[in-house]
Amino acid sequence: MKPRAPKGTADMLPDVARAWEYVERIAQELFSRYGYEPVYTPLFEHTEVFTRGIGEATDIVSKEMYTFEDRAERSLTLRPEGTAPVVRAALEHGLVPQGAFVKLYYAGPMFRYERPQKGRMRQFWQIGAELLGAAEPSADAEMILLLWRFFEAVGLPDERMRLLVNSMGDETCRPAYRDSVRAFILERTDDLCEECVRRADTNPLRAFDCKNPGCETVMDGAPRIVDALCEPCAAHYATVKRLLDDAGLEYEEDCRLVRGLDYYTRTVFEVQADGLGAQNGIGGGGRYDRLMEEYGGPPTPGLGFALGFERTLLAMEAAGVAIESHPLADVYVAAVDDTVRDDVFLICEEFRGGGIAAEADHQSRSLKAQFKQAGRLKASFVVVVGPDELAAGEATVRDMATKVETRIARADVVSEVDALMRESRTLDDADAVGGTDDGVDEGSDAGALGGIDGEV
Ligand SMILES: [Zn+2]
Ligand SMILES: [Zn+2]
Repeated sequence: MKPRAPKGTADMLPDVARAWEYVERIAQELFSRYGYEPVYTPLFEHTEVFTRGIGEATDIVSKEMYTFEDRAERSLTLRPEGTAPVVRAALEHGLVPQGAFVKLYYAGPMFRYERPQKGRMRQFWQIGAELLGAAEPSADAEMILLLWRFFEAVGLPDERMRLLVNSMGDETCRPAYRDSVRAFILERTDDLCEECVRRADTNPLRAFDCKNPGCETVMDGAPRIVDALCEPCAAHYATVKRLLDDAGLEYEEDCRLVRGLDYYTRTVFEVQADGLGAQNGIGGGGRYDRLMEEYGGPPTPGLGFALGFERTLLAMEAAGVAIESHPLADVYVAAVDDTVRDDVFLICEEFRGGGIAAEADHQSRSLKAQFKQAGRLKASFVVVVGPDELAAGEATVRDMATKVETRIARADVVSEVDALMRESRTLDDADAVGGTDDGVDEGSDAGALGGIDGEV
């Protein structure tokens, strides 16, 4: 057997795993500034959490779920998205008593059986936020801003992103609108693809998503939801747009943006990025005021978004954004010969205890080979330990950048090297005129993102 990960999955090797931790950390910091708390739900749920919440007629539920029976013959499904589980958890644990609201975010893998392609995997990683209990349009505008600010924070320039917004109406105005789109489709069955015609009865709005050029042209002439909104929906939508205007956030109104999931009501939005081809949506979401009731809970307004890690990375890569990377070792402790290896072992551990990343040889390598290894690890300093120095209660420190060597007391090796590191950092900062210090622009490990995009 040749070891191989299942089709549509990818190992997150260290470069990509570091990138995941980096964007997750940015999300944690940013989302907490907006009052969000973390939540972790199981990777699988009772299947009905998704069939009831997302809707039987959606692609996700009808074609893409990993559903299986466990040994007790329960139908379980690997989560294809994060909103339904969070809403299920909020209801189960009574997180949103009437009149209250809660802000939760999650990060982790999702699972959909789709044709794998660039930026679309069967196990893919998402970060998402959900706000339950708030009906006011200010919540919609804040949610949209949060998503936009996240992409800004990971380093994507505004001019490489687009924000699309739309309103999908509610239970008052959407049924009539759906009927009008259904009628529109059924009058043009000759000009639309089979899939669009077939879905006319179950999910006619999906025809707006069809990538078939013929369908796109036909649907350009379809009735527009903005013309069909009831007065409260129109007022809600107008306020969301006004608040975005006030915040200086540019957006495009896109009547074709209907999002595939049944649970959306009123505001929907999507952020697209340059450089990704047709799969250019990097994050999106919307309001889902009926979802809690679908699960038998009290009427509870809610809204949220999810963003895709793989596509965010591709967008960052396309924009030339590098991920902050730290050297694996600040200090390398080298042994001159085998008699001092026990001391090297202990000195290395002292550095780590003192908060300094340190590495030493575990392969009986020569001193020359140890220096080479220190170079590969990009260690700033090498502490050379030899029998003569040890006998004198000392060690030698070499600054790998300047090649300057200093004798230091063995007893103070950590504090001495720490002082040297601070000194060289101060000098670096003084040299770097106009250099940025926010991390995002630093490091140039552009190849770090390369592993994610393989056609599988
Ligand atoms: Zn079509
Ligand atoms: Zn309405």
